[in-house]
Amino acid sequence: MHSDEMGLGTLLSHLGEEEKVKGAVVSPIFQNSLFLFDTCDDLHKALTTDLEGPPFHYSRISNPSVAIAEKKIAALEGAEACKLCGTGQGAIALAILSVVAAGAHVIAPDTCYGPVRSMLSEMLQRFGVSYTFVDGRDPVDFIDAIRPETTLIYLESPSSLLFRLQDVDAITKVARERGITTIIDNTYNTPIHYNPIKHGVDIVCHSASKYLGGHSDLTAGALCTTRERMNGIVRHELNYIGSILHPFTAWLLTRGLRTLPLRLKRHESTGNIVARWLETRPEIDRVHHISLDSFPQRELFLKSFSGSGGLFSFEPKVQDPIKIKAFCDSLSLFGRGVSWGGFESLVVPLPITASGVPDGRWFIRLFCGLEEPGDLVSDLERAMHLLA
Ligand SMILES: *Cc1c(COP(=O)(O)O)cnc(C)c1O
Repeated sequence: MHSDEMGLGTLLSHLGEEEKVKGAVVSPIFQNSLFLFDTCDDLHKALTTDLEGPPFHYSRISNPSVAIAEKKIAALEGAEACKLCGTGQGAIALAILSVVAAGAHVIAPDTCYGPVRSMLSEMLQRFGVSYTFVDGRDPVDFIDAIRPETTLIYLESPSSLLFRLQDVDAITKVARERGITTIIDNTYNTPIHYNPIKHGVDIVCHSASKYLGGHSDLTAGALCTTRERMNGIVRHELNYIGSILHPFTAWLLTRGLRTLPLRLKRHESTGNIVARWLETRPEIDRVHHISLDSFPQRELFLKSFSGSGGLFSFEPKVQDPIKIKAFCDSLSLFGRGVSWGGFESLVVPLPITASGVPDGRWFIRLFCGLEEPGDLVSDLERAMHLLA
């Protein structure tokens, strides 16, 4: 069966695993750095063909255990090729480095993932790459910021912490006309809820440490694009920087991927229950969850994505950091920690700097795990008096 004809569950259960080594139902872990060839001619041929798939020669470039997860993610995204890296940030960094050079200019939303924001504003400055951060909720923000030297429009929709959306179709249309490359961080949506390549995006990145892995036991990143572009990235950025995923981690990722659609449904329904409940509470000013009726970009949400998730933030009326931290400290099911996308619920309070937000305003970010929704609501309800 061709992957185009497979439904999601079938693809995640079987694609890339057709070869059963000694009949093993689960592929063994190819825990080896290199591969041997019968002849030197075969070895030389392997070194000069497309580097992103078999024949495998060295695990810095490709490995059969890693290739299984790559095949599944590429199929989910509708991409010709996928490469896995050691972290999501690693995948994003490779993607960005592949489209900038000294003198280039990059446009990104000011609410994009923190380390990406500082990579653009601090590290790349040293290499002569300039940037403009925009609000980004109106596509005109990006279009107006375009300069002759703009080579990259970086997108993250919804963006981190504030969950602001970008009109990807409108932005990629202009980017294509002007020969500007687009990259999107699709971690929030996963390929289940949104496939940016179908909307004109050139490179799609994921932190697979979140929903794709799904069990808080690995870090990984995915980069999806055309075969041609991928060959360039593998030959240059990946080959020189070497931020690859290890075979054992890839094997864990494949295990996580099998249940992605099931887990995501649960995170989504619980996230919606908890967000709607928080909206009814007098202690809270605003809840920022993309699927709420009150979400300011509701039409764009409905037009773009086939679902939402368990990650969102809210603004307590009380803005005293001591009270906000006491509220977070008193929760017992929401663990105080960064990251998200695993089985466990999480909370993190943060002061935010972004366009349209009073400087230093405190937000509380919640991630709803796989616990019973009623238990999560009770946990929050017991702590709510601390926000009075
Ligand atoms: C976590 C995260 C990243 C970075 O991924 P790592 O795997 O932690 O390197 C990038 N973008 C978003 C939206 C994230 O949440």
